[in-house]
Amino acid sequence: MVSKIPADSHYMQLPREVLIGQKVAPLVGETLVRLGVHGSALIVTGPKVEKIAAATVIESLEEAKFATSTTVVNGATTEQVQQVEQEIQRFNPNIIVGIGGGKDIDVAKLSSIHTSKQFLSVPTAASHDGIASPLVSMKGLDRPYSYIAHAPMAIIADTSIIAKSPYRLIASGCGDIVAKYTAVRDWKLAHRIKNEYYGDYAAELAIMSSRLVMKNASSIRMLSNSGVRTLVEALISCGVAMSIAGTSRPCSGAEHLFSHYLTMIAPTPALHGEQCGVGTILCAYLHGANWQLIKDVLHTIGAPTTANELGISSQHIIEALTKAHSIRPERYTILGESGLTKEAAERVASITGVI
Ligand SMILES: [Zn+2]
Repeated sequence: MVSKIPADSHYMQLPREVLIGQKVAPLVGETLVRLGVHGSALIVTGPKVEKIAAATVIESLEEAKFATSTTVVNGATTEQVQQVEQEIQRFNPNIIVGIGGGKDIDVAKLSSIHTSKQFLSVPTAASHDGIASPLVSMKGLDRPYSYIAHAPMAIIADTSIIAKSPYRLIASGCGDIVAKYTAVRDWKLAHRIKNEYYGDYAAELAIMSSRLVMKNASSIRMLSNSGVRTLVEALISCGVAMSIAGTSRPCSGAEHLFSHYLTMIAPTPALHGEQCGVGTILCAYLHGANWQLIKDVLHTIGAPTTANELGISSQHIIEALTKAHSIRPERYTILGESGLTKEAAERVASITGVI
């Protein structure tokens, strides 16, 4: 990020190259060379990442004459970030390559910005929009929601690897995209009520992504090439929408606050995107929008639409609806400044069939 931006100007940090398609993982090395990066690469990956995916990327880096070192991280925590930073100090790589799901990419993203290095994202799952966004969230930070770090210099999304990830992760990614239906409505609301900055271009990009995922729900469910590609393109477009806006606003409204709150209080939270999807049904009702459409789409995709399917109690759903506004008071949404009353929360949750 630049430190001083004149009041009337707008800063955007975008990826320079995005490569999406089947069997593109072997192109990581040559992509970096094309971008003028040579020398050494530190690979940040997770224990669950498909070994073949990591090996393919390492092979492509070595073919492009990179010296490589690999760090395996266990989840997204500040301790893991520190561990990677120590490895960066020791190895002094020219580039950090994050390979894995959202958590592995988040560790690569945060450790690279802390050490003033660039990073390249190779997502092996499509569970949320953090795989391509400048935002980061993890345990141990001072807030339960994500904030701006920096955008990847390039994204190489191999859909043949992503299609083989557990289907639950793909359905969760769809929930995170469907969420833009209410996130953008909340952003518009905050613009009208709080005079908050609103950017049409970023908002339209986020809405278009949610529309395309909704339209292609059946083909995503069938894991067709075009379906998986549509989802990955939507996740990347949403990352770009946040880069353009300079805020998570186009992609994160009340449905996200609801999801963050559930993650804090539920004994066994569901996945981020699964909770966001159910939050979108509830918040669409509150906005007077077509909540039934959201529910039908999530059902077609095979994502949870009820508390039961999330594995979360009705009490926790009601608590999240009444208190989620408090975790981020500056983010004005349909939940208002004091949250829903218990009675209103019970009504929306039962009318929409969530509880
Ligand atoms: Zn999200």
